[in-house]
Amino acid sequence: MMRVRTTCPYCGVGCGVAVEATGDGVAVKGDPNHPANFGRLCSKGAALAETLGLEDRLLHPQIEGRRASWAAATETIATAFSRIIERHGPDAVAFYVSGQMLIEDYYVANKLMKGFIGSANIDTNSRLCMASSVAGHKRAFGADVAPGCYEDLERADLVVLVGSNLAWCHPVLFQRIEDARRRRPDMRLVVVDPRRTATSEAADIHLPVAPGGDTALFRGLLRALERHGARDAAFVAAHTSGVEAALEASAPFDLARTARETRIAPELLARFFDLFIHTEKTVTVYSQGVNQAADGTDRVNAIINCHLLAGRIGKPGCSPFSVTGQPNAMGGREVGGLANQLACHMELDDPAARARVRRFWRAPRMADRPGLKAVDLFDAVHADRVKAVWIIATNPVVSMPDADRVREALRRCELVVVSDIVATTDTAACADILLPSTGWGEKSGMTTNSERRMSRQRAFLPPPGEARHDWRQICDVAAKMGWAEAFAYADSSEIFREYARLCALENDGARALDLAGLTALDKAGYEAFEPTQWPTPKGARGGMARLFADGRFFTPSGRANFVVPGGRAVAAVKPDYPYTLNTGRARDQWHTMTRTGRSPTLARHIGEPFVEMAPADAAREGLRDAEIVRVISPLGEMLVRLCVTARQRPGELFAPMHWNDAFAARARVGALVAPIVDPVSGQPALKASRVRIENA
Ligand code: SF4
Repeated sequence: MMRVRTTCPYCGVGCGVAVEATGDGVAVKGDPNHPANFGRLCSKGAALAETLGLEDRLLHPQIEGRRASWAAATETIATAFSRIIERHGPDAVAFYVSGQMLIEDYYVANKLMKGFIGSANIDTNSRLCMASSVAGHKRAFGADVAPGCYEDLERADLVVLVGSNLAWCHPVLFQRIEDARRRRPDMRLVVVDPRRTATSEAADIHLPVAPGGDTALFRGLLRALERHGARDAAFVAAHTSGVEAALEASAPFDLARTARETRIAPELLARFFDLFIHTEKTVTVYSQGVNQAADGTDRVNAIINCHLLAGRIGKPGCSPFSVTGQPNAMGGREVGGLANQLACHMELDDPAARARVRRFWRAPRMADRPGLKAVDLFDAVHADRVKAVWIIATNPVVSMPDADRVREALRRCELVVVSDIVATTDTAACADILLPSTGWGEKSGMTTNSERRMSRQRAFLPPPGEARHDWRQICDVAAKMGWAEAFAYADSSEIFREYARLCALENDGARALDLAGLTALDKAGYEAFEPTQWPTPKGARGGMARLFADGRFFTPSGRANFVVPGGRAVAAVKPDYPYTLNTGRARDQWHTMTRTGRSPTLARHIGEPFVEMAPADAAREGLRDAEIVRVISPLGEMLVRLCVTARQRPGELFAPMHWNDAFAARARVGALVAPIVDPVSGQPALKASRVRIENA
């Protein structure tokens, strides 16, 4: 029997998984020694063994729908990319990658695009997930870092969850909070969410904030903290900048105005403010309800401002804390998977950083300006400015806003390459060249979870058919484009070691992402790697649970920045589209269901797409529970079953993001979502589209 310790491929909690593979099959359990989950798994992790079958798997390369050899497929890609670059310049090609990729896959994709092709046109589905937190962290801390760790959520006396249905979306983290509450009944949980959810039902206080009201809520809280003497004067004076401007901007947000803008009852608001003011050990967790908004970055900074004012950061049980959606969303950011940054948290607009990376890679053509972020990237494909795109491990025809236009863009694009494990996705249907990738259980590499903890995914199955690792596919194409030497890796451990050396290069503590302690990790050490939080500076035996304990931040001044958030951002109400459509996850499905859609156990929870609506709205529209309805936006429509529920507030609808044409016809919610983005982060606002609803 083979026993392997690996990491779950779904959410950003990054749970350790213990796999026992026998001749008869595979058994999956939680890894009791992994510090993210200590043996726990949620329903999705527990059902992983059901998702390993080969039905619908893409097993061989295809060119224009016909089976092809790897040599022919990679040669065709390399030739087409080289020709397009020669004729139209490096910005005429692009990669669109994914938080499902491992650090090593991501690293070589970024190296090829930014250092050898010479464009920064590589963006990732993490743009849809985390970009506003990235931008907010950089504005406040000078680096994209999560200051705390999961243990802080257990040690806090107050946990505030903002825009997060943690019980469904990060279930093991929620279990850890609930276990801590059972041990310490005085611990309090507050949930800020427009919807009633499984998470809000467990809370001591549920604040049903109006869409677009989060920034006002935390401006009101900042004012209340100041007025009630909760400022940590010594910390603010010694370690921060900009407090007076932030307080001045928050001054108008008394209880009445905050209540008006958030549509939360003043008494409820006052209870929350009082609890926050008087609870020193507070962690504020934020997720997609904060990030996926037209003012997502401001929301992040409005939350961080409150923690800075009260000095609640860098201490056990005290932190603002962003939970990432994907298993390697943070790892992808680390290696430069976003179009606006270099590898290892170095900035594209920093000439010294560009020169450092160029020297290290011996790069012939270094990108010197930011590339196209996700929404702009597919716009450029549509407009024929990008003529070739390579999409890896993601399904943008389902997940992007204005998804029908994304499909149209790919259909008219000169060359679309798709690397995936599944042959039948909506995006694969648009591909000229399909490349079969290895999936979870077949590939090996590193991921980073929401608390900066790097863990190994380890293979325990052989690659099926002719499937290859994503990093291998990228290196093969790079070699055929003339850069064989720079992409000659024997295995993923060599890529990781190179990445660690780049992180350590000329890093005297100026950059948070320091892996100097891992630069000598040999293959055996890499294989045996135990989950470790970065930074791991030279000589460190382990990682670092918390940052900023010394009050030193990564800004040029070493001080954290208070940021004045902008105004309220709410989609304009159009009479023909009277409802605000919110999107999110179902408990037992993941992304576009390419893996979880195979599990009969998971399908038992919710088996079909739906839209939730308040009873009063359904009565007014003459709609009945469980009937099929048409939800229509100015961009598209979908057909789904109506769920009439008091969980939903009047005027607001909710639909899950998962279903797509492979599972149910005309159920892609992305087709309805307007491509409005946060101007700072470029993250799409996926939770506030204007729609109407009618009988099918
Ligand atoms: Fe996997 Fe997330 Fe569930 Fe953990 S909580 S088992 S990482 S889906």
